[in-house]
Amino acid sequence: MIPPGPIEALSRCDVCLGEFEPVTPGQRRCSEPCREFVRQHKRAHSSALPGMWEAAQNREQRARVTREALERQRARPCPGGKVRHHSKRDARKALRRASRWYRAVPGWLRIYRCPDCDSWHLTSRPARVEDIVAGPGGDR
Ligand SMILES: [Zn+2]
Ligand SMILES: [Zn+2]
Repeated sequence: MIPPGPIEALSRCDVCLGEFEPVTPGQRRCSEPCREFVRQHKRAHSSALPGMWEAAQNREQRARVTREALERQRARPCPGGKVRHHSKRDARKALRRASRWYRAVPGWLRIYRCPDCDSWHLTSRPARVEDIVAGPGGDR
């Protein structure tokens, strides 16, 4: 099949360095995000733009990877069915709350990092060597 319309000379975007078909003569940026990038970095020298664009893309990419990993971690339920705390700080807070109700038994609760779901849980079981070896919920 023959592509419709005349084949225009491609231009190279001076921001992302991608080739594009200019819609208007003299167009230097391929897309709205690239134009927006130039608007946001008015003071940047045009020769610095591609490097800045790439750095911004890498930053964005890294942030996305981190965000996705975090979301995956949060979505994964604990195989032990325990309440999950995503940080040690959260677990400590929960521990303090719970301890208020059971002040009669000091130190009966502790927090530990669950190797199954990679988050923090409270447990009333005393720490045992098996917990370290087999992990919590290792009653066999
Ligand atoms: Zn571009
Ligand atoms: Zn767990």
